[in-house]
Amino acid sequence: MIISTKRGTPQEELQKIISGFEAQGLSVTLIQGTDYNVFGLVGDTTKLDEKIVAANPWVDSVTRVAAPYKKANRLFHQEDSVIDVAGIKIGGKEKIVVIGGPCSVEGEESTIEIAKAVKAAGGSMLRGGAYKPRTSPYAFQGLGTEGILDMVKAREITGLPIVSELMSEDRIDEFEEYVDLVQIGARNMQNFQLLKAVGKMKKPVLLKRGLANTIEEWIMSAEYIMAGGNENVIFCERGIRTFEKYTRNTLDLSVIPIIKEKTHLPIIIDPSHATGNWKYVESMSLAAIAAGADGLIIEVHPDPEHAWSDGAQSLKPDRFREVIEKGRPIAQVIGRNL
Ligand code: PEP
Ligand code: MN
Repeated sequence: MIISTKRGTPQEELQKIISGFEAQGLSVTLIQGTDYNVFGLVGDTTKLDEKIVAANPWVDSVTRVAAPYKKANRLFHQEDSVIDVAGIKIGGKEKIVVIGGPCSVEGEESTIEIAKAVKAAGGSMLRGGAYKPRTSPYAFQGLGTEGILDMVKAREITGLPIVSELMSEDRIDEFEEYVDLVQIGARNMQNFQLLKAVGKMKKPVLLKRGLANTIEEWIMSAEYIMAGGNENVIFCERGIRTFEKYTRNTLDLSVIPIIKEKTHLPIIIDPSHATGNWKYVESMSLAAIAAGADGLIIEVHPDPEHAWSDGAQSLKPDRFREVIEKGRPIAQVIGRNL
């Protein structure tokens, strides 16, 4: 962190600032100019809040040089982390993982049917929401435990690991028992209490980007989970809110190289929620593969017009298979496989 103090700052105020930092275990290098003084702080500055430092009336500017996250930081962990989800490896340089399934679980039979189709198409994991974060309290809220058990049944039959969204702490035991990959939805990305609780879980976590969150805020949410002891975090970009109306959200593919540069964690793309329209899912999936995503999570439904949620963005199984088939040669070109 680099701090400059205002012109004319009295010597005793400078000394107070320096001792304050030293008391926090930081070493301070002072460059004394004729008009301004500049400090360089060396040490672990993750606990320092630059806004509080700037609240000192003698401080002119504060610049953070090191990122505020440690555990997720590529600087301290050069190799890519590969996250094991019930035997399926996400991250690393080779395999790109495709997850498919309905937005909401709609019952045992339909979940099994979709799981079989996802597997036959080349998908390696099943998604399905049993607890749904709906904008309207009158919209379908999910089947709850029954939905989780429908997913479990589909896993028994197909062998596909299952991913589902956890919305509240009171369901943690259920997810720990049944779910292979715990999804934290966009709306809960900054539910810090939930993130802390998930940090104590044994299961890997799929952390979606919030509707209007910066990349740094997103990484800090991963840091919450990792700081609790659960280092198995996978990022998921699902589009952010912009002024654009032709798509449900705006897919920010630039996060792929940025997340890979700043962190060692895998990142997958959700083109379904990003576009909100099945017509755009294929091209955004192919673009995500080309850009280096470690996986895709796509909504699949055999009868999208009658889906209980998100039908407009759901692919029929045949189209889902086509996405995978078209994605294979692209993956190969960049030295990966799908
Ligand atoms: C979902 O995966 O169905 C979902 C609600 O996603 P998001 O949190 O990205 O909106
Ligand atoms: Mn959905």
